[in-house]
Amino acid sequence: MTQIFQWTQSASFFERVDRLNLHGLHFQHINLCVRRAWMYLHRINFAQWNSRVATGLAHQTTHYKRDRSTVGLFGLAPDRLDWERAIVFENKGTGGAQCAVDHQVGYYALMLSIATGREWKGQVHVLTNRRWREVALDSSLLDALWHDSLALELLSQMGQVPFAAKINLCASCSLAPFCGYD
Ligand code: SF4
Repeated sequence: MTQIFQWTQSASFFERVDRLNLHGLHFQHINLCVRRAWMYLHRINFAQWNSRVATGLAHQTTHYKRDRSTVGLFGLAPDRLDWERAIVFENKGTGGAQCAVDHQVGYYALMLSIATGREWKGQVHVLTNRRWREVALDSSLLDALWHDSLALELLSQMGQVPFAAKINLCASCSLAPFCGYD
């Protein structure tokens, strides 16, 4: 039996998500790199220019088809849902960027909680090592998602590409040539 979901920020969070047309990947990118998040918010996509990313996308499309349980969800793209136990599943190839992935899955759990009034949680499955972890929608994650949404609102209003320092992720980022970090 899942618990009733109550969060005083629900209406404001939903309004911001709806107005800015935010998705799970926004909440992943904002925890990886502000420049990447800015590009994604402004729908600037370099993936087709990067052979490694293009190959990864093709692999994702052909190997990790979404479960039928997700059919009919508008604006949410998790890999699988357990409607009875209120769990949202996300598969990842590797175990990297844990915080960013948890925020993406946490976002799905939060939106489903707001929509259904039941408290959802997330489960991240790492395909390469067959491990999984739970993502609980506790007060610290709710607070973090709220601040992510505020940061995304600020980025959406920013007309210039923000500065971003070189990080480990740059080596596999499709924007690396643009940033000069390739
Ligand atoms: S290359 Fe690095 S700095 Fe540039 S967007 Fe990608 S992760 Fe951010």
